[in-house]
Amino acid sequence: MSGNEIRELFLSFFESKGHTRVKSASLVPESDPTLLFTNAGMVPFKNVFLGLEKRPYKRAVSCQKCLRVSGKHNDLESVGYTSRHHTFFEMLGNFSFGDYFKREAILYAWEFVTEYLKLPKEKLYVSVFRDDEEAYRIWNEEVGLPSERIWRLGEEDNFWQMGDTGPCGPSSEIYVDRGEEYGEERFLEIWNLVFMQYNRDEKGNLTPLPNPNIDTGMGLERIASVLQGTKTNFEIDLIKPLIDFGQEISGKTYGENFEDTVAMRVIADHLRAITFAISDGVLPSNTARGYVIRRILRRALRFGYKLGIREPFLYKGVDVVVEVMKDAYPELLQTRAFVKGVVKAEEERFLHTFRNSMPVVEEFINTALEEGRRFLKGEEVFKLYDTYGFPLDLLEEIAKEKGLSLDMEGFEREMEIQRERARQNFKIQTKEVQPIYQHLKNIGRTSTFVGYEQYVAQSKVI
Ligand code: ATP
Ligand code: MG
Ligand code: MG
Ligand code: MG
Repeated sequence: MSGNEIRELFLSFFESKGHTRVKSASLVPESDPTLLFTNAGMVPFKNVFLGLEKRPYKRAVSCQKCLRVSGKHNDLESVGYTSRHHTFFEMLGNFSFGDYFKREAILYAWEFVTEYLKLPKEKLYVSVFRDDEEAYRIWNEEVGLPSERIWRLGEEDNFWQMGDTGPCGPSSEIYVDRGEEYGEERFLEIWNLVFMQYNRDEKGNLTPLPNPNIDTGMGLERIASVLQGTKTNFEIDLIKPLIDFGQEISGKTYGENFEDTVAMRVIADHLRAITFAISDGVLPSNTARGYVIRRILRRALRFGYKLGIREPFLYKGVDVVVEVMKDAYPELLQTRAFVKGVVKAEEERFLHTFRNSMPVVEEFINTALEEGRRFLKGEEVFKLYDTYGFPLDLLEEIAKEKGLSLDMEGFEREMEIQRERARQNFKIQTKEVQPIYQHLKNIGRTSTFVGYEQYVAQSKVI
């Protein structure tokens, strides 16, 4: 079954169960300033769950664009290394606002997974919250799952809360057994059912909600990988064209060696993230959301660099994302030219910095490794930052891959020295402008403007 078919099947299945189909909201949460990006299907319904907003329906179904790159849910650094994590992904979800509850939610999920998707029952496992006898009983007695296939887990995995106070409740997750060869990732979590049945007050007390809610989320890419029998999410029909794009542009082969494979996955993932985010109006910038997008774009460029790509290329990948996703998200067609322009300009700007500084980064790293040092010196970090405008978060990641950290205390000392020098210069300059310029000229001192890059590195967000 194709990704598009699974999405449609989910939406129409729940429509047939009296749910209203609701279009995906923007990646920029409309009514939640505390959240940088929509990171779950329930986000656009938050105020409905809180009773602050009324909708003309009590059951809804959606396929929501999600981005998990900040705050509580940040999967950025897992991308490419696990089989199942993306920054951008689509979450299928059904919701009940004070209408049906636990029993129906479980029975609908089971019916969909076993009768519509036809997953073999013997490969399915579920988890319930330790104390949730009701959920345990439904799975065990009504669905007929034997007790050894129902795991009781603790709060960490199976208790959901909106915030420190407010709606919360136990959850239950459905897993697919992919076989021993998957090791740690053998049991793939595909669907999370949240039973919002309590309200938590400031003191931490739980009171039952008069009309409990249902919020569920299933990752479209994960379920597609199960149905399409791919090893990871990256080979499903919705993503593979982007892997092919990476192969084509780099001339490398996916699956041949680990590093190149990870790089192609990261590029495929990040291309989806930046295309959808920019299409939703988030422009690369130095503040909050824009900085996250800038960071993702630069990260993709850096993985491209690892593959030997030295020219702007991401803007061409935008076309691939649009081609694959346009049926489900026709708005991508309207914004395509704009998104490509933004991506290309950003690529050109950063590649310039990057080409100049990468040889220096590599030299510093190699020296550290030769000397048996586990960190880059403060003055080296400072030089990259100050002279080359190299973003510190990216430097930290690159160093980490080689087992090195950054000496940030040393870096701070260098910053202080520079600040002091600037103060002195200012004093001298205001007194005797002419001689100091003459002096600088005599010693052949030139300067480079690195303000853009410095500002970026300082306004580290997340
Ligand atoms: P995991 O434990 O695998 O990180 P999760 O428990 O963090 O997943 P939930 O917050 O329960 O995930 O989200 C609901 C569903 O969304 C998951 O069951 C999964 O199918 C999907 N999902 C979550 N995070 C990602 C991601 N980074 N990429 C792709 N799909 C995801
Ligand atoms: Mg997670
Ligand atoms: Mg989980
Ligand atoms: Mg979960």
